[in-house]
Amino acid sequence: TPPSRIRNFSITAHVDAGKSTLADRLLERTGAVSAREMREQYLDSLELERERGITVKLQAARMNYTARDGETYVLNLIDTPGHVDFSYEVSRSLQACEGALLLIDATKGVEAQTLANAYLALENNLEIVPILNKIDLPAAQPEQAAQEVEQVIGIDMRDAVRTSAKLGLGIEETLEAIVKRVPPPKASAEQATLRALIFDSDYDDYRGVVVYFRIFDGTLRKSDRIRFMANGREYDVGEIGVLTPKPLPVEELSVGEVGYLVAGIKAVAHARVGDTITLATDPAPEPLPGYKEVKPMVFSGIFPSDAGMYNQLRDALEKLKLNDAALYFENENSPALGFGFRCGFLGLLHLDVVIERLETEYDLDLVTTAPSVVYQVHTTRGDMIEVDNPCKLPPPTSIERIEEPYVRIEMITPTEHVGPLMELAQSRRGEFIDMRFLTETRAVLIYEMPLGEMVSDFFDQLKSRSKGYAGLDYRPIGYRPSDLVKLDIAIHGEVVDAMSVLCHRSGAQALGRSLCQRLLEIVPRQQFKVAIQARIGSKVIASEHLSALRKDVTAKLYGGDVTRKKKLLEKQKRGKKLAAERALASGIRVPKEAFRVILTAK
Ligand code: GDP
Ligand code: MG
Repeated sequence: TPPSRIRNFSITAHVDAGKSTLADRLLERTGAVSAREMREQYLDSLELERERGITVKLQAARMNYTARDGETYVLNLIDTPGHVDFSYEVSRSLQACEGALLLIDATKGVEAQTLANAYLALENNLEIVPILNKIDLPAAQPEQAAQEVEQVIGIDMRDAVRTSAKLGLGIEETLEAIVKRVPPPKASAEQATLRALIFDSDYDDYRGVVVYFRIFDGTLRKSDRIRFMANGREYDVGEIGVLTPKPLPVEELSVGEVGYLVAGIKAVAHARVGDTITLATDPAPEPLPGYKEVKPMVFSGIFPSDAGMYNQLRDALEKLKLNDAALYFENENSPALGFGFRCGFLGLLHLDVVIERLETEYDLDLVTTAPSVVYQVHTTRGDMIEVDNPCKLPPPTSIERIEEPYVRIEMITPTEHVGPLMELAQSRRGEFIDMRFLTETRAVLIYEMPLGEMVSDFFDQLKSRSKGYAGLDYRPIGYRPSDLVKLDIAIHGEVVDAMSVLCHRSGAQALGRSLCQRLLEIVPRQQFKVAIQARIGSKVIASEHLSALRKDVTAKLYGGDVTRKKKLLEKQKRGKKLAAERALASGIRVPKEAFRVILTAK
């Protein structure tokens, strides 16, 4: 297909605006997927994504559309993940396009990710085609939504397409807008040799890695030997093809086209998103711009509840890693939790997704430690070390200063919740930057705050303080020095390593107190009195006491309820078998929930 008849585009939107539904309608209308094959929301394939209503993996779909001008066009829809954790992948897949549909829910107007995604599309110089969706709903206010977009993002909404993806209204207008407004791809004039951008890769048990790419220069044939420019690895291509969205093998692909290749690649880490593919026999002098290796932002210890499951956990992590280049792990040995892994993630959603997959797909019962960000510790010797585990912090005497990662957050909320959200941000050391009104009833609040303050329950708090109405987006803005201290928890005099957290000195006491109080409810009573303490170094800053247990465990139930008594006794009998707890040196068995308490502290 000549570039003049190719259009490469993506759909960008806030979650639930109707992206998957619109994609389905486009595929249906162009005959790429027949109604019979049409499973709802074709592009979201992972079961987990479907359940959570989020898209974490990109895939592409090629459609043939005969436009009103009589020409038949190839439209390549490149799907982008919908979450900020994957913003590097989003930006790479946007780079594979010339245009983006900016989908706005006409009942909601501008939302947090609408903003973030629109900015990404603008930064990548894409032509933006605005679409107002859900116009079938009585609550739709397309005029007002359009006004918000013009005001906040500054794009012209006069030619916005109005759709109901659900009812199939405005689909042809959308296709026409893509053909007319998205520019065709062009080759860089002086570059004839192959340069293709990897915008996604996927691991398949049978074929190995499937690489999804967009060709910028030159031609790729199925007999070619290719080279990945970032790591220099070379492979003989076994198959190339297009996604209709079912894979369809072809002989060759040229400038502007989007496709997949299979070449006996063993792990997605060898074919990194953002890298450039060239020919081994005739390599391009320069890769396409913008490649970077994504680095994990959030770390957590993951341990099997049952030490006997260690090998299964390792195998599961290795399996997930085949398909997830951003997942990082290494061995970790904790005195309290035994053998496990220190794992690194792009962000909190990525962490949640991985843990959920380990627990559901691999049937593992896990104990996880509080997520930690990566601190930059400047030592008195004058060097800098990166610390992602509070237990690994050097002794205070050798620390010159600690820097922590900051993020800029944007919260969009109905104005009546502005007060509670400002309190929330301030309680998490947020620095107020700006507040803007979208309309009389909705505002954007902008803060800069430590990423470490977001890794506990910030998002849940935001939702509960705004009755579910506020939205959040954030992006990293670099490191800043902070007065941080390591807070340890000691149970009966024993510091439980896996419970240590780094926190700001000003909040240490309050955090210590609340942790002690909550652990008091969870740590089982013993035959002796047990102290639960929060410490900084050897200094105790908060403490609680668990009183000794009387011999008869049922004594505290004033005789009455027989079934409860029975249950309690049964539970006590089973106690020894409960895998989800950890024995300390003192013999005290700490249940798994105790580690969860640390996760949701503050
Ligand atoms: P995504 O998260 O952006 O992919 O959104 P989905 O396509 O999953 O849609 C979210 C919800 O909105 C689903 O329940 C859809 O059925 C519904 N939806 C999508 N488009 C429309 C529309 O035009 N009208 C109405 N009434 N509902 C829609
Ligand atoms: Mg979706």
